[in-house]
Formats: sequence, C-alpha cells, structure tokens
Amino acid sequence: MATVETRALIKRFDSGTNAVDGIDLSVREGEFMVLLGPSGSGKTTLLRMIAGLEQPTSGDILLDGQVITGLPPRARNMAMVFQSYALYPHLNVFRNIAFPLRAQGMARGSIQEKVDWAAKMFGISALLQRKPRQLSGGERQRVALARAVVREPVVFLLDEPLSNLDAKLRISARDELQQFQRHLETTTIYVTHDQVEALALGDRIVVLDHGSIHQIGTPQEVYERPADTFVATFIGAPPMNLVQRQGQPTLGFRPEHFLPQAAYNDTSQLRRFPFHILRVENLGSNHLVYGELLPPMPPVKAIARIPSTVEVVLERGATSEFAIKEHRLHAFDPDTGLRLD
Ligand code: ATP
Repeated sequence: MATVETRALIKRFDSGTNAVDGIDLSVREGEFMVLLGPSGSGKTTLLRMIAGLEQPTSGDILLDGQVITGLPPRARNMAMVFQSYALYPHLNVFRNIAFPLRAQGMARGSIQEKVDWAAKMFGISALLQRKPRQLSGGERQRVALARAVVREPVVFLLDEPLSNLDAKLRISARDELQQFQRHLETTTIYVTHDQVEALALGDRIVVLDHGSIHQIGTPQEVYERPADTFVATFIGAPPMNLVQRQGQPTLGFRPEHFLPQAAYNDTSQLRRFPFHILRVENLGSNHLVYGELLPPMPPVKAIARIPSTVEVVLERGATSEFAIKEHRLHAFDPDTGLRLD
C-alpha cells in the first residue's frame, strides 16, 4: 500500500498550452481514485507523469512522501494498464503475464507460482496457452490486469481499461475490477471520461477540465454538492438544469428533483415552476419530460425525470405546474460559476 501526491504539477507541451496546469493531488493508501474529465482535459498526461512515462515541466510527484519526480518508470513500482491492454501478440497468455517477472530475473518456479495465482484470481487459468488474438475483449482485459498484478506493484494506474468492452461486459468487468481492488487494497488511480463509471468505481473522484481540478470528492459529494456549474453539468445524465437570471444567482436543479406538483404528498418547502411540455420520452422505469420554463422564470429549456410509479398525465403542448423541494435547489455565482452555499 502506498500514498501518491502531486505538488503544483505542470506539463506544457510545445503547443504552448498547459495540458496539466498546476495539480495538487493526494491519493490515500488503498484508495480507488478516479480522474474524470472530458477529452483533452489532461487525465492521461497526469497519469503518465505519475507513471514516469512523461516528465513534468515543473512540480513534484511523491510516493509515500518521497519525491520520485526524476525516477524512471521501472524504479517506481507502479503498474500501468492501458486502454489497448498492450499485450504482446506473439506470446501466449502465460508468457504475457510472466513477462515482467522474467524481466526481473525471477526463478522459473516462482514465476509459475505467481502466474498461476494471478490467473486464478482473474479466472483465466484455462486460457494460459492461447494467444491474445484468440481472446475476447474482456479476456484480454483480464490478462492485462493479471500482468499488472503479478509483480505486486504498490500502485495501479489504469487508463480507460474498460473502454474497448461492449456495454454489458463493461458493467460486469467494472464490478470485478472493484472487487479485485478491494481485495488487494492496492492504491489505484483510474482515468475515465465516463461519469457513470467514475461514480460507480471511485472512493473519490477528481473532476478535471483544461488541466485544472474543479472538484475532489466522494461520488456523493460531487453529485449532491457540485463545486461549480462545470461539475454540475458534467456529472449526471441528463445534466443538471441551469437557469441564468438577470442580476441573480444561477439556479440549478437535477431532472429527478423536478416533478409535477401532483407527485408530492408533502407540499411544504416547494418552489413551483410553470412548465410548458415540449416532448415526453418513455424510458420504461421513468419518463424524461423536455420543456420550457414559463414566467416568472426566464424561458429556459429544462428536463424532468419522472419515475413511472408517478401517475400523472403529461401531454405534449400542455402547461403544467412543476415543483422542486427548496433544499434540492443549487445556487451558483453567475460570473464565476462557483457554488454559493
Ligand atoms: P482523452 O480522454 O481524449 O484521452 P485526456 O483528458 O486524457 O483526453 P490528454 O491526453 O492528457 O487528455 O491531453 C491533454 C492535452 O494535451 C490535449 O490538449 C492534448 O492535445 C495535449 N497533448 C497530449 N499529449 C501531447 C503531446 N505529446 N504533444 C502535444 N500535446 C499533447
């Protein structure tokens, strides 16, 4: 187990913009930390600097409190798993997993033992003689993870390891990954642009954009108390509704908290909004209602997510009274976008 810290970490490429723009991060022992952000936000660059594959322009990286900024990757005892898995196509699964151990000069008997242990943990013992091309995407992913685990690294660095899997396999692979991590208790830093994956996996999530941190928090914190309008709209699908008002704080509310007034038994502390319905989408377990707010609100588009258990007739073209519990409203500074309470 290990802690990882970055201090004022900056990476400037020749293009002149800072891909990573002054990041202070502190990952705890055994923690599953997710780096979440849109494409180009600097996630991969940050991970590669931690791995030692990229040198920072300035700033420091610490492992267990020791500065490791100048150390080569092999001296860091971290294992990185890439999106592509980077398996050796001409080697069978056994040799792929054994590769880092051979490179260390480990004795044959010990290698056999380690590979068997890792293969068993990832359920791939029957596949050891196959070549990577004879494996499914999910199996390849397990081989890549087994190869990472086998040298017992102190830190796992994972760069979108599930992105090549189909939607169904992704969910089961996600669960497995979480179980392995909990079992091994290895400090893990995991890159994704998928907010659902981030919420499902992370002990904490770092939300990045343009090389800067917008928020660090538990899945619950970033969802329930987003630090700014970027986090509010990046996390959650459909995103949080935002209403910009002349000379007043920007108002935010999540689609699932914006319901027809008739859906509330307890009508205390309700803020009411007349809502003009433009379109209703039936998703089975709930309905998405697309519409526009009416005066006294500005004419802003908004979305409501209504559980199918709520029996209210919603018709396109109708105007209906919608409402939100006061404590579900978020307020943001209209100029900076920062949360106000
Ligand atoms: P994605 O989700 O698309 O992988 P990301 O958040 O991982 O994106 P990075 O790959 O870290 O983002 O890239 C951050 C920024 O740095 C981008 O603007 C990218 O174009 C730039 N960048 C990354 N690598 C290099 C490089 N080797 N040379 C120049 N610019 C680079």
